[in-house]
Amino acid sequence: MLVALTDQHEQFILNSNIPKTALKQLRQKTKFYCPQCKEQLQFKIGTFKIPHFAHNSKSLCDQRFSERESERHLLGKEQLFQFFVSQHIDVQLEPYLQNINQRPDLLVIEDGHRFAVEFQCSPISLEKREQRNNGYKRDFIRPIWIPAQPVNKEFRQGIMKISLSKQLQQFILTSNKQQYIMLYDPTMRQFIYLSNLMLLHGNQFISKVQALPISIQKFPFYLPKVISKKEFSQYVLLYHSYAHNYLKSRVLLSRKGVNDLFLRSVYELRLNIQALPKFIGVPVQESDAINLYSAEWQAALFYFLRQHHLTISEMNNQSIHNFLKWANLLYSKRTISAVKNYCYILESLSINDPHQSYRDEEIVNQLYSHFLAINYKY
Ligand SMILES: [Zn+2]
Repeated sequence: MLVALTDQHEQFILNSNIPKTALKQLRQKTKFYCPQCKEQLQFKIGTFKIPHFAHNSKSLCDQRFSERESERHLLGKEQLFQFFVSQHIDVQLEPYLQNINQRPDLLVIEDGHRFAVEFQCSPISLEKREQRNNGYKRDFIRPIWIPAQPVNKEFRQGIMKISLSKQLQQFILTSNKQQYIMLYDPTMRQFIYLSNLMLLHGNQFISKVQALPISIQKFPFYLPKVISKKEFSQYVLLYHSYAHNYLKSRVLLSRKGVNDLFLRSVYELRLNIQALPKFIGVPVQESDAINLYSAEWQAALFYFLRQHHLTISEMNNQSIHNFLKWANLLYSKRTISAVKNYCYILESLSINDPHQSYRDEEIVNQLYSHFLAINYKY
């Protein structure tokens, strides 16, 4: 905790600009109490962690249990608090909200709206996050979750492949027609934006990574812009090079041989696995609902069309249903939508046959407009 009450019932906020010698003198003169349970607190001024308050180990106060605060959490919380102070924005550190029995890291009041800022350093379950969000909603407070940049992971800046744990994926936001995550790194005093997320497969994404020092951040926080078409063509290159490597290992690892639908499709369609046409294995919205790499189910779709003497334009709900069943894929609203999206892209490119010629540029254009027509899932 960074906030305590003094003997005189005044609020005292710790600040790392106060010299430790001054804090030690203060500790001799004053006792400090928990704003919530009013128990006396220990004032910890050590060498390693930044100065903070802590309950006695026997305390039953709620706050003791949320107290296993890391240095990183304390640091980030203090820096974010100072950020709002420097912006002349009304902010409270660790306020106890009696109505909902919650204590966000910060409570910010701006333009008549209240925001609860949570700087999240440790893993949190979806249920717990939902529970806290519901509490805030009841009190008409908008939650802003800022996950900490993972300690073991350093993001270089630029357009690249990144992997995001399921834990981090729950913080994905949508704005300006793209999906992004805003992290904070207290060590470097900067925000990290992982923007324009494009799913590759599993936890792998392509993203534009940018750092923004807290000294130039504003509130409401900067929203990342959608990438340009030029940047998008870099995405497509990365997407295909990843596909290439993935498919190579896919061939080596497959034990099912001809029973493997993807390998079978590629074989029957007389395609070269090392040089698939660029319209097989493309990113489409909702494809995360299909638990296969895009090239796999997209190649299978062409094989399905051939076997059933269908054209792309004949892929209505019924035939999509048949395809999913035939390919042994999950049948759901989202998987249907993924296949529909893909058919739509093929139709716009007037592609019906896997051996048809195409222009790279046209594919990039089509995929780019599809990428911009993002679904607001979150
Ligand atoms: Zn307490």
